[in-house]
Amino acid sequence: MYANYHTHTYRCNHATGTEKEYVERAIEKGLKILGFSDHTPYPFPKEYHSGMRMRVDELPDYVRTVENLKDEYKSDIEIHIGLEVEYYPRHFDELLKLVEDYPIEYFLLAQHHIGNEYDVEAGYCGMPTHSDDKLRQYVRQAIEGMETGKFLYLAHPDLIAYEGDMDLYDEEMRRLCLAAREHDLPLELNFLGLTEGRNYPFKRFWNLASELEMDVIYGCDAHRVDRVMEDGIVERADHFLEGMHLHLIEEMKLPAHV
Ligand SMILES: [Zn+2]
Ligand SMILES: [Zn+2]
Repeated sequence: MYANYHTHTYRCNHATGTEKEYVERAIEKGLKILGFSDHTPYPFPKEYHSGMRMRVDELPDYVRTVENLKDEYKSDIEIHIGLEVEYYPRHFDELLKLVEDYPIEYFLLAQHHIGNEYDVEAGYCGMPTHSDDKLRQYVRQAIEGMETGKFLYLAHPDLIAYEGDMDLYDEEMRRLCLAAREHDLPLELNFLGLTEGRNYPFKRFWNLASELEMDVIYGCDAHRVDRVMEDGIVERADHFLEGMHLHLIEEMKLPAHV
């Protein structure tokens, strides 16, 4: 593994470490490509404050900081700048307009919430649920996001902690995988979930992905500097996927702009 596109910074309010610290760690661990994908600012209505992402007015400094590091470390590592983005239909166009003037190269699609985040009571998709509707909406919304053509890959596709009818789960997740294939988006095996023993990566999901021989990419999802290429993590990921029929993508071709 020489490329990681899933890296956070202190700006999202639930991660620690500066961009520079992440870059130095990545170099120390032998990465050749490091992509920043901090949680996107979202142009929500003023009444709503999302505590898990940078504010809109923090975007310029994020961009400037990463751009400077690109230059400073150009002989050691290739640095890219992206954002981790939920597809929220009501505000997505405004988000595209917001990033138009900044050199944002890619979006990772990560459906942490459904609806537009503030208007659906169900909350975070990683909370255990038996709701068929929530599962269906998660998949529908992720597919609509993919259909915009604005995303590089699907981060932790198996984030939703659905505990209901597993036949329905299989059916919905197969749809999700087939849409990802249609739009040529790899599925991310998420190291954060693996390390912290979260509900994802979820074996059942990856068995389905294996049946469909999907493309997979590894992502650190580092919220702490030492989670960039944490010791032993690649071996754990390889072990998790052992015997499965997946195509591991090592490097993404990035557009010039989202
Ligand atoms: Zn996060
Ligand atoms: Zn993330």
